[in-house]
Amino acid sequence: MRLLVFASGKGSNFEAMVKASRSGYFHSKVVGLLCDKDCPAAEIAKANDIPVTVIKPKDYKDKEIYIDALVSAAKGYSPDYIILAGYMRIIPSELLDAYPLKVLNVHPSLLPAFPGKDSILRAWEAGVKTTGITVHFVNDRLDQGPIIAQESLIMPDSLEKLEEEMHKIEHRIYPAAVKELTEHPFDAVVVSKCLMGANSRYDGGNKYSKRAETFVKTFKGKVLEMCPEIEAGLSTPRPKINIINGKAIMDGKEDVTEKLNKACHRIMSELSGSKKIIAILKEKSPSCGVLNPKGLFATCALEKFRNNIFIVSEEDL
Ligand code: SF4
Repeated sequence: MRLLVFASGKGSNFEAMVKASRSGYFHSKVVGLLCDKDCPAAEIAKANDIPVTVIKPKDYKDKEIYIDALVSAAKGYSPDYIILAGYMRIIPSELLDAYPLKVLNVHPSLLPAFPGKDSILRAWEAGVKTTGITVHFVNDRLDQGPIIAQESLIMPDSLEKLEEEMHKIEHRIYPAAVKELTEHPFDAVVVSKCLMGANSRYDGGNKYSKRAETFVKTFKGKVLEMCPEIEAGLSTPRPKINIINGKAIMDGKEDVTEKLNKACHRIMSELSGSKKIIAILKEKSPSCGVLNPKGLFATCALEKFRNNIFIVSEEDL
């Protein structure tokens, strides 16, 4: 697979990716480096014959033109994944629209603790006993994308040692996460039908649909678009379903819990041969939602896939 790295600084994580590729640790190739300024990372790229593109915001007369330039420069490399390696700028949503769940970042804390800048120092000053490194997908919310990998460490006795140990961990687990994603990719995606713009029992489409559709369109494995409520034979247009004492009550009276559970299990049985599944689910639905473990019926059906399923909600995209 083709990796495009974004960096702004020393480039130590970029170098770790280049080493992982050149040594055969993973089979992906670092095809380019994109920087927002002239920086040591660019020198490392040049020394390794890796093409470099520098996109400096101040060189563009307005933000829109800058974003266009950034997105088209990234697309020019045809990357399968974009790897942020100390890139000190916000990723524009236009880039995430083009590459949903394809942009990765490494962050020096155990997210969701200490998001944002100076995480190592803030964890140290807060006196926490354990901190660590997180690799996550990037979305529009700073350091809140779905977590791919984490490794913790016990706080050492000095800030210098902490920084040193943290860097060692990130240079190991970031390439390891890339290896896992690229060499053991998801072989099936299950996605809420209404999120794909279909008129199921919800109105079709919302602001996350474009990203869900883009992800599915470029997905190489099995695609299962599902609507547990349609599968359960519930009527359309949609009478409201409320969760009351763990039961799904439709239209204020009908208990449809059993129907939904069976529908979800029927749907998920189609994926029983899949090794590694990603589920992109409508978040605030009693049937497809995943955030509240109580009364969320698709979640029950997903339970048996617990170890090989990666669940993201629409807002994670
Ligand atoms: Fe959408 Fe899922 Fe509800 Fe069907 S069951 S309308 S796919 S949220």
